Formats: sequence, structure tokens, C-alpha cells
Amino acid sequence: MLSTEQIIDAMSEQGLRITDQRKTLARLFGEHSGYLSAKDVYEYMCKKYSGLSFDTVYRNLRVMQELGVLEQVVFEDGMKFKASCSEDHHHHHMICLQCQRTYPIQFCPVHLADAPEHFQVVTHKFEVFGYCKDCQQSASDEEQTASAKTGRA
Ligand SMILES: [Zn+2]
Ligand SMILES: [Zn+2]
Ligand SMILES: [Zn+2]
Repeated sequence: MLSTEQIIDAMSEQGLRITDQRKTLARLFGEHSGYLSAKDVYEYMCKKYSGLSFDTVYRNLRVMQELGVLEQVVFEDGMKFKASCSEDHHHHHMICLQCQRTYPIQFCPVHLADAPEHFQVVTHKFEVFGYCKDCQQSASDEEQTASAKTGRA
């Protein structure tokens, strides 16, 4: 995952003015390994900058995503953002629904798609959601505690 400095460097290399707000956004994403919704980011930013509009925050998220420093994923409960992973070649993600840890995978299914003739593919998305090893472990621990309790009752 990109660090705060890498995010700032990438933004300034691509000609984006590094305002104090963008620095704060870079730090927020550089230090947060999970995904954040635009609302999460807005609420965080409002604590630091009074009178900030949701549109301004959202526009900055869009710009950062277009520059490739943020990755965007659509979850069941909406769109969320996190710092891009450091992989610089084309890849996809396996995402843990519990801890939101993201594992880059090299498999790309786009060649397997039976696109209609003359259909020009511009972009594609492929994400796999599930539970990582740690989260499967903690889920089964909870189940065991639950069944132990019912067993005793
Ligand atoms: Zn990635
Ligand atoms: Zn997990
Ligand atoms: Zn792909």
C-alpha cells in the first residue's frame, strides 16, 4: 500500500497542487489500511476543517482516484476508497469482508469474457470478497464459545 509520502509525491508529480486538505487526505489514507466511504472521510475532515462541503471532499477523492493513488471498490453498502497498493502492474483484489485486508491477485479474467463481436473493452473490474485466515479463525472461535455456552446450559 502507498505511504503518505508516496501519495503526496504522486499527486505533486502529476501536477496537483498540494493543499493542506490534500495533505490531510494523503495522511488519512496512508495510515489507514482498510476502506473508507466518502462519508467516513467527510466526517473525519469536518473535525479538522470547519465549513467544509461534502462536494469538496468528494471531488478530492475522485481526483485522487483518477491519479491512481486511491483505489475504489463497490461494497454491498456502497463505494469505498483506500490507498492504492504498491503493485504497479495490472492486478485484481481479494478482499476480506471482516478486516478489509486486501490481497492482490495476478489472475485476470478479462480474456475469458465472451465479449460480443467488435465490442471494444475499455476497462473492467473483478474483485473477490471473503474472509482471510485470521478472520475465519476468530469467527470459528466465536462459534465454539457460543456452542460451549449452549452446551453448559
Ligand atoms: Zn491493488
Ligand atoms: Zn480478515
Ligand atoms: Zn484484469
